[in-house]
Amino acid sequence: MDHFLYRDGALYAEDVPVAEIAAAVGTPFYVYSTATLERHFKLFDEALEGTEHLVCYAMKAASNQAILKTLAKLGAGMDVVSQGEYLRARAAGVPGDKIVFSGVGKTYEEIHTALTGGIRQFNVESEPEMIVIDQVAQKLGVKAPITIRVNPDVDAKTHAKIATGKSENKFGIPISRAKEVYALAASLPGLEVIGIDCHIGSQLTDLEPFRLAYEKVAELTETLRAEGHNIRRLDLGGGLGIPYTRSNEAPPLPVEYGQLIKDTLGHLDCEIEIEPGRLIAGNAGLMVSKVIYVKSGEGRDFLIIDGAMNDLIRPAMYEAHHDIIPVIEPVPGTEQQPYDIVGPVCESGDTFAKQRNLAPMVAGDLVAFRSAGAYGAVMASEYNSRPLIPEVLVHGDQFAVIRERPSFDEMINRDTIPAWL
Ligand SMILES: *Cc1c(COP(=O)(O)O)cnc(C)c1O
Repeated sequence: MDHFLYRDGALYAEDVPVAEIAAAVGTPFYVYSTATLERHFKLFDEALEGTEHLVCYAMKAASNQAILKTLAKLGAGMDVVSQGEYLRARAAGVPGDKIVFSGVGKTYEEIHTALTGGIRQFNVESEPEMIVIDQVAQKLGVKAPITIRVNPDVDAKTHAKIATGKSENKFGIPISRAKEVYALAASLPGLEVIGIDCHIGSQLTDLEPFRLAYEKVAELTETLRAEGHNIRRLDLGGGLGIPYTRSNEAPPLPVEYGQLIKDTLGHLDCEIEIEPGRLIAGNAGLMVSKVIYVKSGEGRDFLIIDGAMNDLIRPAMYEAHHDIIPVIEPVPGTEQQPYDIVGPVCESGDTFAKQRNLAPMVAGDLVAFRSAGAYGAVMASEYNSRPLIPEVLVHGDQFAVIRERPSFDEMINRDTIPAWL
């Protein structure tokens, strides 16, 4: 559920007409709903009620400071995958003891920053990384809290580019080797082993892969405890999918996911961490764009819009579907026609949708891409020298620009000319 609805024929973001934001900031832009962000966070938090837990928002999904602060105010922890994200989380007021550090390639400097600034735990992804964390911790005279990310070798049944829990993926250590890697961890004086971590992929629309993975985590918990490890925290990753189309079967709800966690792991008396990203931010954001031209091609009409693959890369990168709706609601009964909806970038991949049915559009009309809040703005680039598009946050009847569109001069002047030129 989200807070982008038509009212009297116009699309609203909460209590603000989307067209009003477009008039104020220009197109294209991203707009997020505070109420939706908050609602989604609370759904997870409530799903784990009765169990000691922390919901750590996977901030790579959408990492604007205002979004982080909105969630931090509700008590969210953060899952970070880089020094930049760590520093963003701290700047948004998240205490170190609510930040978990994930990612396969944490560098010495990143580990140092997190250990000196405060960290809840590192989710360790390999033995070489574990050794570096130990070295940094020893140098600082502290013990680094760690979990080890195990790869349970289950098929997440999602897009290949976002499946992470199969043995051929680069993530974690094979669960079959967990005993020896935990033994190594226990022997390193700079580390304190506190738990197990597991994240099998993103946009999962079925609970079964989670069940298979968590059953393996439960078994591993018992095995490691029998070996003398004090396993007291289980980080279960993120990955719960969202509906990208209205017609699709609905993915499982957070409450069902929470129940699965309790069923598979509740008996272990561990603190539970989850790291949802997409489900919190995805349907909390739209990308709004304007039709530049309607071009009649051979046998098809193109809607050329001012948003492009550099602004929202998911369709080009993952063949992702986004519902695209007009900002002015068509009068009921309007006959639709198929359009290929494309951006201005010089690549055929800059195609958002093929033969998508929409009410007839003309130049100047606004369209909104639904479910664009996660992996949207954060993946944007300035390809084709198109400045990053602004981000706007709505709160009831208020809205604020939370990242400005840079001017062309700002974009150009970030480059510097060497002395020999
Ligand atoms: C990407 C990622 C997440 C979040 O995944 P979503 O599908 O956005 O919920 C959580 N944990 C880790 C380690 C990740 O890499």
